Amino acid sequence: MKTFKHTAGVHGGRQDLRQLGVHALPVDLSTTYPLSNVEDGMAGLDALVEGQARADNPVYARLFNPTVDRWELALAQAENAEAAVAFSSGMAALTACVLALQDRGRHIVAVRPVYGTSDHLLASGLLGNEISWVNVDEIAAAIRTDTALVMIETPANPTLQLVDIEAVVAQAGDVPVLVDSTFATPVLQNPLNHGASLVLHSATKFLGGHGDVIAGAIACSEQWAAKLRQVRVATGALLHPWAAYLLHRSMPTLKLRVERAQSVAGELALKLAADARVTRVHYPGLDGQDTQRLIGRQMSGPGSVLSFEVNGDHRTAAAVVNAVNLITPAVSLGSVDTLIQHPAALTHRVMDANDRENCGIRPNLLRLSAGLEESHDLWKDLDQALESAFESSESQAA
Ligand SMILES: *Cc1c(COP(=O)(O)O)cnc(C)c1O
Repeated sequence: MKTFKHTAGVHGGRQDLRQLGVHALPVDLSTTYPLSNVEDGMAGLDALVEGQARADNPVYARLFNPTVDRWELALAQAENAEAAVAFSSGMAALTACVLALQDRGRHIVAVRPVYGTSDHLLASGLLGNEISWVNVDEIAAAIRTDTALVMIETPANPTLQLVDIEAVVAQAGDVPVLVDSTFATPVLQNPLNHGASLVLHSATKFLGGHGDVIAGAIACSEQWAAKLRQVRVATGALLHPWAAYLLHRSMPTLKLRVERAQSVAGELALKLAADARVTRVHYPGLDGQDTQRLIGRQMSGPGSVLSFEVNGDHRTAAAVVNAVNLITPAVSLGSVDTLIQHPAALTHRVMDANDRENCGIRPNLLRLSAGLEESHDLWKDLDQALESAFESSESQAA
C-alpha cells in the first residue's frame, strides 16, 4: 500500500518558493490583477473560465489565486491525484461535484451513513438531483442510465463503518465513484489508488487540524478538476487565500498529528470497550471490527475518530457531553484537542429520525475525535463525565 510520506507533506506545493526568494508561503490577497494589455486579459479569462488550472494573467481572484493553487498542488500530491480543487467548505465541494456531474444525469446512488448535512443535501433534492440510498451490495442494481454519481463515505460519520472502495467501484461500472475520505485523511487512505474518481475532504477537519479554518477540496483527475473549476468560477464558492495559507501551513505536521491522534484513540477505545457503562464501541482498530480486513489493504490504520454507545438513553449520552472538562464538547473533528459530541442531537439532527436509527445512529451514541493530549488525562476526564452522567440518571430514576 502506497502511503503518505513526511517529505511530501513538508515540501508539497512549495516548488516555486525558492525562485520567488521566500521561505514562508506568500499570501496573495489581490482581488484583481493589472493587465499588461487587454488581449492578455482575454486569453487568461478564456483559459480559466474553461477550467484550466492557471493562466499567465489570472485577471480576477474568482478565477485563480496562487496561494490557493499551491495548497491544491500539495493536496493533489498527498492524494496521488493529478489535481485538487479547493472550495470554501466541504459542503461547497460536494455541491460542486453534484453540479459538475449533472450533464451525466440527475440520479445519485449513495450508501448511508454519510455526514448529516451531506445526507440532507442529497436527500432534499435541493440541487435538482434524485437519490437512491442503498446497501453496498445493492449498488449495481440501483444504477440507471441517468446515474451520474455513486457516493460513499469511509470511514463513515459517525458509525465508523468501513466501505470497500474497490468493491463499490466494480459495481459502479462507468459511473464515477465519489469517496468522502475526511475521516481517513490522505495519510491513512488514498481512494484514487483503489479506483475512485473523486475524493472529498472536509479540510475543516484534519487537514486544517487546528479548529480555525472552514474549507473543502476534491482530489481527482485533471479532466474532472477542469469541470469543478468551471463550477467554482461560476458559483464563487472560493477558498479564501488566508484559509489556503493555514491549510498549507498544516500540511507538514499532518502525518504526525494523524498518527499521534490515532494512537490516543486506540488507547481510549480499549478503555471504553472494557467499561461497564459503555455497551458498544465503534472503532475499526478494535479486534474483530474490521470484518472485511480493509486495514492494511485500503487504510494504513483505523484513524482517530471513534463512537460509543452508553448504557442509557439520549439523556444519559447528552449528560456525558455536558460533564466533560478537559475534552471539548463540540461538533467537528480532527483538531489538536479532543472533541466529543452527540450525533443524533447535533451533526445528524437534520436527518429523518427513522433513517438515522436505521443506519445505526442511535440516541445513546456519542462520537469522540481524539486529539494530541496524553490519553490518561483524557480517560480521567471521560471517566468522571460518565460517572456524573450515571449518577444523575440514577437520581432521576430514584
Ligand atoms: C464536516 C464534514 C463534512 C462537511 O464539511 P464542512 O467543511 O463542514 O462543510 C463532510 N463530510 C464529512 C465526513 C465531515 O465530517
